[in-house]
Amino acid sequence: MFKIGCHLSASKGFLAMGKTSISIGANTFQFFTRNPRGGAAKELDTADISAFLDYSRDNGIDVILAHAPYTLNICSADAGIREFAKNTFIDDIRRMEAVPGNLYNFHPGSHVGQGAETGIKMIADTLNEIIYPEMTTTILLETMSGKGSEVGRSFEEIREILDRVELSDKLGVCLDTCHVYDAGYDIVNDLDGVLEAFDKVIGLDKLRAIHINDSKNPFASHKDRHEVIGGGSIGEEAFARIINHPELRDLPFYLETPNELDGYAKEIELLKSLRK
Ligand code: FE
Ligand code: FE
Ligand code: ZN
Repeated sequence: MFKIGCHLSASKGFLAMGKTSISIGANTFQFFTRNPRGGAAKELDTADISAFLDYSRDNGIDVILAHAPYTLNICSADAGIREFAKNTFIDDIRRMEAVPGNLYNFHPGSHVGQGAETGIKMIADTLNEIIYPEMTTTILLETMSGKGSEVGRSFEEIREILDRVELSDKLGVCLDTCHVYDAGYDIVNDLDGVLEAFDKVIGLDKLRAIHINDSKNPFASHKDRHEVIGGGSIGEEAFARIINHPELRDLPFYLETPNELDGYAKEIELLKSLRK
């Protein structure tokens, strides 16, 4: 089954996101666990969640992806910010456990001048404090474009984090096509080579989701500006190869370039037409 969906607003709850997804031809979705800039989350609505779980079972939604607020920085130089990020993370995981067995994606962080090694160590230390054996949620590290002092700009940096986490079977990776292309992985001309590198450094068994975004900027620009599918430097043909690649085709794909719902529906229709 082609698992495809887009980023949706969580303001009306899980059931509403499930129904919206089905109405635009999707069978999965991504959402922010709380305001993307951080702050309080709504308390869990257990009636909404149980209605959503029933609806999912009946409509073929078998995985969803939560996205942490992108300001969450567990490798900040400021101990107070790190503590706040850790507590937000713990609360998000607690909430995700109400919809068991799904995915929670986060940006590894920005080391803000402390150096990637320090950042990597802080990220791994915090993950070791957060992850517990009974957890059913899989935490995904997102591959980043390398703008500013972002950690996760290379497969090696992601691998270093995974290596330092004890319960690393609770971790996976979300590959963002815009980010890796901007970071200097040529998924347009050498998709096989990039996936071989991923497999050698991280292991393809760790790859659990794809953020499917075109890029406004040229290869290796380290910019991170998303574009709708086919509208940027990656282009439709490359996306056809990506969604059909034997190592990728069974993963869930998430469109996240801001778009209206009918725009997302058109992107999904396009991708379905490219699917073999
Ligand atoms: Fe992201
Ligand atoms: Fe992304
Ligand atoms: Zn991005």
